[in-house]
Amino acid sequence: RFNWVTGVQTCALPISLGLQKVIFTGKISKYSHMKKLIILGCLLFSQFSFAQEYSAREIERPKLVVGIVVDQMRQEYFYRFHDRYVEGGLKRLMHDGFMMQNGHYNYIPTYTGPGHASVYTGTTPATHGIIGNNWYIRAMDDDIYCAEDSTVSAVGGSESKGKISPRNLLTTTITDELRFATGKRSKVVGVAIKDRGAALPAGHLGDAYWFDGGTGNFMTSDYYYEELPAWVKSFNERKLAAKYLDQTWETLFPIETYIQGASDDNEFESPFKGKARPTFPYDLKKLQKDNGGLGMISSTPYGNTFTVDMAMAAIQGEELGQRGETDFLAVSFSTPDYIGHRFGPQAIEVEDNYLRLDRDLAKFFDYLDKEIGKGQYLVFLTADHGVADVVNYMKSERVTAGSLDTKALTTGLDNFIKEKYGEGDWVSNFSNQQIFLNRELIAEKGLSLAKVQTEIADYLLTFDGIKETYTGETMRNQEFTKGLKHLLQMGYNHKSSGDVMVVMEPAWLANAGKGTTHGTGFTYDTNVPIVFYGWGVKPGSSSRYATITDIAPTLSMMLKTRLPNGATGQPILEIVDAK
Ligand code: ZN
Ligand code: ZN
Repeated sequence: RFNWVTGVQTCALPISLGLQKVIFTGKISKYSHMKKLIILGCLLFSQFSFAQEYSAREIERPKLVVGIVVDQMRQEYFYRFHDRYVEGGLKRLMHDGFMMQNGHYNYIPTYTGPGHASVYTGTTPATHGIIGNNWYIRAMDDDIYCAEDSTVSAVGGSESKGKISPRNLLTTTITDELRFATGKRSKVVGVAIKDRGAALPAGHLGDAYWFDGGTGNFMTSDYYYEELPAWVKSFNERKLAAKYLDQTWETLFPIETYIQGASDDNEFESPFKGKARPTFPYDLKKLQKDNGGLGMISSTPYGNTFTVDMAMAAIQGEELGQRGETDFLAVSFSTPDYIGHRFGPQAIEVEDNYLRLDRDLAKFFDYLDKEIGKGQYLVFLTADHGVADVVNYMKSERVTAGSLDTKALTTGLDNFIKEKYGEGDWVSNFSNQQIFLNRELIAEKGLSLAKVQTEIADYLLTFDGIKETYTGETMRNQEFTKGLKHLLQMGYNHKSSGDVMVVMEPAWLANAGKGTTHGTGFTYDTNVPIVFYGWGVKPGSSSRYATITDIAPTLSMMLKTRLPNGATGQPILEIVDAK
């Protein structure tokens, strides 16, 4: 697949004509000797023709890489809904691609921002710095959003949706490295309904477009462009969001054939505003008024169709994969996350959304076959995290599960600290299952931070539903190589993470009600698809444990780029070395 330097081969040919016979008929042991001679001859020869050889230099790469992140997709969705997937969509990846079916997130917390960052940087929040969707900044005594950038402004959309860039990402992405590897001739485009699903994958050097629910358009910020490119403007003029919402969402098949989870009407799912029960059909025309206007498309399967439309417009508008350079299109499907949160993995709405996403993907792959050519493009598909089951659904099935009352916890903690150390605002923030202490006050009172951390960690263990607690001190001074402690450490950033880390019991959620969420280090949140398909990929599968941070290093090996600068994952040998 890889010619070292085409120039070497071409210039070696005339010199080595007489040796060809020896090389191809001789013993292997002689080969390396001969090769050295040839290379030596070639190096001498190359003194005269460097420029010529340079232009003849050729590294084989696919025409286009398509990175697909399905927001909140569990690995099990490949199997549970398998029977009604079409041949050309998810089944095409399963049957003709290489699937790591035991692929996992290898850090806590499993959220969207960290997930997209980790897929594309090949490392974890400890290194790339995206430690949550939002997190507390001690110096500001305020929260920051993962893709927030106060120095930039909206382009082509609502001002409030435009302060977006990859500036908080501390390491390079595989998309950055592809651009560096080709003198920036490669184009990188990130597309998603969620801004972070577009901006983090596109890296520091790419372009990113995300959806603006206020206008129904795809927009960007002036980090990327002063004005929307013409192709984005004409895409927006098609007013597709409004068009897609001008219909009723009914199940693709008769509703009684949906037998993979719970029945349609139940107490576990959260209905849309303006509709009493969480049941089909959904009259989107009527419901959109109370459910975010055009923004409601993100909670319907048509958000996926819309995203594919935009991805295809990007291929056409930027001539991706059609310019003699390897381009990279990073697409993230945000809709499965919105639907998943609202209804939970047992819901017919979730199944129907996957059946429809599968058909959208089939259409997208057919388009790629036609425009780029089958075997000429490389696809990988993964997710940014999985999801927990709805707590009350698990309870109804007699599985141990529970809800942690965080208000009771913070009140209890407050009383505990005041009793022990006196009055004061001891806790600055509690977010992402981490407690940030008021370090100034602790220093002022002459207390040891490590000791206060430990006493709080011990106290929190008295709560039902809290499985383990760790101090920042422990995270910094010990190295964990296995288990939840390891996952926590891979998500722990020395400069920005909290003072006490809380791990809940499996199947527990904070303040659980209808619907569900994600964020833990348990398998339901960590086991996600890692599948490669197309250019240079031999079909197959493996159940070896692999991590999400292996995706970017795998791409680095296949695309012959540097590794992203903070990468800690390893290439997936089953894919990279398969001949
Ligand atoms: Zn997500
Ligand atoms: Zn989510």
